[in-house]
This record gives sequence, C-alpha cells and structure tokens, in this order.
Amino acid sequence: MTEQSRPRVGVIGLGTMGGAMAANLARAGFPLAAWNRTPGHTSEIEALGGMIVATPAALASTADIVLICVSDTPDVESVLFGRDGVAAGATAGSLVIDCSTIDPAATRRFAAALARQGVGFVDAPVTGGSEGARNATLAILVGGAPADVERARPVLQAIGRTVTHLGPVGAGQAAKAVNQVILAGTYLGVAEGLVLALKSGLDPEQVVAALSGGAAQSWVLANRSGRMLANDYPLGFKVALHLKDLGIALDMARESGAVLPVAALAAQLEAGLVATGHAADDMSALARAIRSLSGLDA
Ligand code: NAP
Repeated sequence: MTEQSRPRVGVIGLGTMGGAMAANLARAGFPLAAWNRTPGHTSEIEALGGMIVATPAALASTADIVLICVSDTPDVESVLFGRDGVAAGATAGSLVIDCSTIDPAATRRFAAALARQGVGFVDAPVTGGSEGARNATLAILVGGAPADVERARPVLQAIGRTVTHLGPVGAGQAAKAVNQVILAGTYLGVAEGLVLALKSGLDPEQVVAALSGGAAQSWVLANRSGRMLANDYPLGFKVALHLKDLGIALDMARESGAVLPVAALAAQLEAGLVATGHAADDMSALARAIRSLSGLDA
C-alpha cells in the first residue's frame, strides 16, 4: 500500500490501548486524526504528525476509517450515537472498527444502526495486553462482513500480529469473551500456585523459572508472576475492565446454557477488589485476594 492509497484513519479513545494503537498507525504512515474525551493524552500523537480534533463527529467527517477503543458498551454507544457522535459526521461508504471489548448483542445493534446510513462496521477486540498494544503484537478477533473485514485488515495489521476473521458482526466480541474466561482461570491458577509456593517455603522465583519450561507455562506466569510476588500491581489492564468482561461472558453463558464456575468466582473476587479500592490496579491483583485469604499480607 503506497502512502497515497492509505485510508485516512480517525482514532477515538487514547487510553492505554487506543493511545498505543494510534501511535502505531501514525508510525505506519496512515494519515491520522484522533479524539479523546479528556484533554491531555494527545502529545505523543501530535509529535507523530497526528491531528487532534474537537468531536467524534468532526473526526468521522474526514476519516475513511474510524477506530474506537473506549472502555465499555455504553461508552461505545455514546461516542457513536451521542451528541456530536460518529453517526452525526460519518459519510456513507466509511467504516467503523471497534477495538473496545463490549457486549456482542449491543455490537450487532450498533452495526445495524450504522448500516442504515451506509456506514460499515467491524468488531475487532484485541488481546495481548498493554505490551501488545505498544509493540503492535496484538491478537485481533474480528467479526464483520467479509468486504468490511478486508478494508479493515491493513489498519489492523498495523496494530497487531494476528488478525482472525471469526464470523459476522459480534463474532469478534464473542471470541473475546472466551479469551477473558480463559484468562480468569489462568490468573487465578498462577496466583494460587504462587501463594502455595510462598506458604511452603519455596523460593518462588526459582519455582517460576523451573515451571516456565513445562506444562504450566503461560503468558500470565511469564509476564505477571513478578507483580504477584511483589504484591504490587501497576497497569496493565484494570481489574474493573476485566470484571466488565466477565459480566459479558456470564450473560452469554446464561443465554447459551454454558456453566462457568471459575469465571463466576473470579468475578466475585474482582468485585471484592473493586469494593476495597483496587478497581484501577492491574488485573494481576487477583493475587492480592488470594494472598489475603491465606493471611500472607496481614
Ligand atoms: P483506559 O486506559 O482506561 O482508557 C479508556 C479510554 O476510553 C480513555 O481514552 C477514555 O477517555 C475513553 N472513554 C471511556 N469512557 C468514555 C466515554 N463515555 N466517552 C468517551 N471516551 C470514553 O482503558 P484501556 O486499557 O485502554 O481499555 C480500552 C478497551 O480495550 C477496553 O474495552 C478494554 O477492555 C480493552 N482492552 C484492554 C487491554 C489492556 O491490557 N489494557 C487489553 C485488551 C483489551 P478519558 O481519557 O476521557 O477517560
């Protein structure tokens, strides 16, 4: 793709993930505009040549592709259909890519409303952590019509390493819920294993190194066990956001008849972390709950 043929991309939401995605799109040579609700997240994007605009509507009016990465379902609804939202500015033939993790059923409703004004929609939630967003190594889970997904692909390839088209609109979000359920079990398992190592008098760092070549290896063990051992949980991925994702997964489970006892337990422990002031800790703070149940930090 030549510099001239690259679509104009507008990014909405310059938080941990969206800020890193926007920076990678600018570095990859896409003509870039960006909007963030709260001022003060824009200096890196401006330094990379991106333009900061006043509203989502203004951003959509000049973009071929709008990429959204905000927190939750009502937030996506608000930037799409609220006052001065994307729908108020988007032109027929443009495309919205939603990289937020939100509810699949709401995603289908949003896509249908945009389709009525000739705007395409692709859901493209991501996994791979803040590191993956910074290094453009995310795994991207995509739902949408094949032609829309192909239009989105060059943009997604600039922010991630694997782009998997899983089905129609909403399929990406459904697959992301699966990912979050698996993560819940992995974080809890690593936290429990490390607490057992500590309580048993083992050298936990030596244990982590020894296990890393075996069947218990995982991204969480490799990247988050250090935080769990230090009992210090810098971001990352906020506990409150994972709790939001488990809410989506447990709703899907109720509707489909799946039974998810570990996800339900993780959601309860995370609700406890939120209630005790740890909503903005990294999700590895699940270990805080397990450590505390074992009396480690009394
Ligand atoms: P974050 O750092 O908290 O950033 C959230 C962004 O959403 C901010 O730009 C925030 O704007 C914006 N926002 C929230 N509500 C809004 C609203 N009503 N209107 C307009 N903007 C709004 O979160 P994040 O970690 O980047 O996560 C973003 C999405 O990616 C979430 O859906 C999350 O589940 C998903 N995700 C995160 C990770 C991760 O490791 N962090 C990994 C995979 C997926 P303000 O600056 O104004 O608050």
